[in-house]
Amino acid sequence: MAKSLNEQAHSGIHGLHAYVPGKPIDDLKRELGLTSIIKLASNENPFGVAPAVKQAFAQFVGNGAHDLHRYPDGGGYALKQKIAARHDIEAERVTLGNGSNDVLELTARVFLGPGKNAVFSQYAFAVYPIVARAVNAETRMVPALGAGADMPYGHDLDAFLDHIDEDTGVVFIASPNNPTGTWLAPQAIEAFLDAVPPGVVVVLDEAYLEYQADSERPDSRQWLERYPNLIVTRTFSKIYGMAGLRVGYALTSTEVADWINRIRQPFNVNTVALYCAEAALTDEDFVTYSTQTNAVQRASLAGELEARGLICLPSQANFITFDCGRASTPLYQAMLHEGVIVRPLESYEMPEHLRVTVGSEEDNRVFLAALDAVLERE
Ligand code: PMP
Repeated sequence: MAKSLNEQAHSGIHGLHAYVPGKPIDDLKRELGLTSIIKLASNENPFGVAPAVKQAFAQFVGNGAHDLHRYPDGGGYALKQKIAARHDIEAERVTLGNGSNDVLELTARVFLGPGKNAVFSQYAFAVYPIVARAVNAETRMVPALGAGADMPYGHDLDAFLDHIDEDTGVVFIASPNNPTGTWLAPQAIEAFLDAVPPGVVVVLDEAYLEYQADSERPDSRQWLERYPNLIVTRTFSKIYGMAGLRVGYALTSTEVADWINRIRQPFNVNTVALYCAEAALTDEDFVTYSTQTNAVQRASLAGELEARGLICLPSQANFITFDCGRASTPLYQAMLHEGVIVRPLESYEMPEHLRVTVGSEEDNRVFLAALDAVLERE
């Protein structure tokens, strides 16, 4: 008897659901009869693409995009050299990805599989369980810190240790974490790295690192020498405003980079993205502007939300997650009709929380006005 497609799809992914993308903004505008919509739902850079990237992109097109008929540089040589110089690390210890999501998936494909388990926190980034289950590994969710803790909803690293056993392949931690915005003290990360068995890979996801205050930011580079099992992931999507171009990278030991390169598709980062990411690294002014503005706007937005009696989770990222004190999906829907897209966190089992990206001063004003209008109608 022939098997059904349902039977053929492996057991690890049966409980997963396909990612439901938001509607394109222009379609939404038409549907809702709105002239403008502000999207504060995906933690993107509200100031757009870094100017150096725009310039590089224009230059690329101006040069007739002459080499687009060729495959990209499969080793990403030039970009890796620049990233390596920035982190004072050997270039062979940099692995590029089609966004840092790609690096997370590559990690799972190397170090997880049937019979192995992946450990991550409750309220952690949704991609960790997906990449683990995609390779038929078990997923172990560690209960997060309680609502009354210093870092409510944050990672409980002590509890992580209780979930790690001889079948653990990868542990995912994020600082700052999405969707909570919570972070880990550098000393806590270091103590954790000391306590994790050396054969267990620890992914330290630093997608939002640039948004942390200098005093809170770990220097994870130093740990890479001491912990060959550490994978630090970074992205060009946020601080450089390059989410649409898809470039991220991992910093690792030579050994881990070698394992990943054995299965990495050679052309996982495209030619335009490689070219633009190199340019991004020269744009320190944009990084400084984005981080400083984010810090000011984040504090102001948190203050405004708290003034409305809404409790915010502590955030060192470019978004704020707050407790609405009622179901957040209807609030999100009502705000959509006001022309502001935010992110309800029902799928993260935080049904009363909304996540809002910290926008420009004007974006935040519009967001607060929409929120007020919606709350007033209740
Ligand atoms: N890690 C975290 C914690 C994230 O929030 C995101 C993006 N939402 C990523 C990784 C992946 O980002 P990208 O693939 O765009 O680099």
